[in-house]
Amino acid sequence: MSTRDILDLSKGELEAWCETAGFPTYRAAQIAVWLYRQGVGDFATMKNLPGPLRERLASDFHIGLPAVASVSRSTDGTRKLLLRLADETTVESVLIPDGERLTLCVSTQVGCAMGCAFCATATLGLKRHLRRGEIVGQLLVARSLVTAEAETHDGPDRISNMVFMGMGEPLHNYAGTVGAIDTLTADWGVDFSHRRITVSTVGLLPEMQRLLADTQVNLAVSLTAIDQSSRRELMPVSKKYPVEELLATCRTLPLPRRKRITFEYVMLAGVNDAPAQARALARALGGIRCKVNLIPFNPFPGAPFGRSDDVTVARFQDALRNAGVHATVRESRGPDIAAACGQLVAEGEARRRPNAGATH
Ligand code: SAH
Repeated sequence: MSTRDILDLSKGELEAWCETAGFPTYRAAQIAVWLYRQGVGDFATMKNLPGPLRERLASDFHIGLPAVASVSRSTDGTRKLLLRLADETTVESVLIPDGERLTLCVSTQVGCAMGCAFCATATLGLKRHLRRGEIVGQLLVARSLVTAEAETHDGPDRISNMVFMGMGEPLHNYAGTVGAIDTLTADWGVDFSHRRITVSTVGLLPEMQRLLADTQVNLAVSLTAIDQSSRRELMPVSKKYPVEELLATCRTLPLPRRKRITFEYVMLAGVNDAPAQARALARALGGIRCKVNLIPFNPFPGAPFGRSDDVTVARFQDALRNAGVHATVRESRGPDIAAACGQLVAEGEARRRPNAGATH
């Protein structure tokens, strides 16, 4: 597509375009209502805009909503969307119902460069960053799906929370991620509360600090090992940013009042799940306002790890709690459709099974 994706623009950029094209800048807000409140995919539907403006928009831009290639449904109500982008690459978004909540998990890159040993996405390598509009587009198409299915589907009928925990490392794609957060949270945009958005990172330290200065979203840090020698094996990012530096940075992050950092900890059988490791973890987290979210490992083909069993996970959680650390266990959602944490590999799946689970 030779034109620009209008979903990539900030409000200021849209206003500047209006001005250059000879239209009043207040038109930018009207265009944004169509794009982000109505979620339309065509300029012709923007009925309150004068004809010449609609024509000029259509000649300068396209609306780059990702195409829904398939929707897989888990028996637990989780839905995984395989999304095809303009260049034919694919990413996945996951809708996770939980009581009154409906959380959308979005991707920020096609593949990932971080190379975590326990994550299926890492096996793809990094293909490219997603653009701002491609991240926002995931919310727009997921919201349309939820609205369309509201009549026939049990469970919550609007997306209440968003997590940047799909494919990719959000802070490696800093501009795309923060640009998307701008459109998602702005009153001219989607108007989604920043308090209901969580960004998860392997711990890119400068970008973590920038994120908390630039936005008010919640921060989750994937820790998974507390001693430097194991963590650098499991998460190569530790070679650049050692655990001690990561924790030192977390201690000084300008967290808004009453906010806590969430540390995610993937539980790998026999690797990092012993009670002594829980006690070491609790000691290391001293002085950081935080909670720990334990994620039992979700297997994928060829994975060199096993999942810690429920008793081991409970014992680890108890050890953390006894040491005064708030600890929860993340339930695996959508494992039957490979939608759980660390199982997203849209690229390979699309090639192997072009119509897998297609119901849309
Ligand atoms: N790159 C970011 C965003 C991805 S979030 C990050 O790593 O934080 C995905 C979460 O799932 C991370 O906490 C990650 O550690 C975890 N994860 C990765 N692979 C997993 C697997 N196979 N089983 C369980 N959790 C996994």
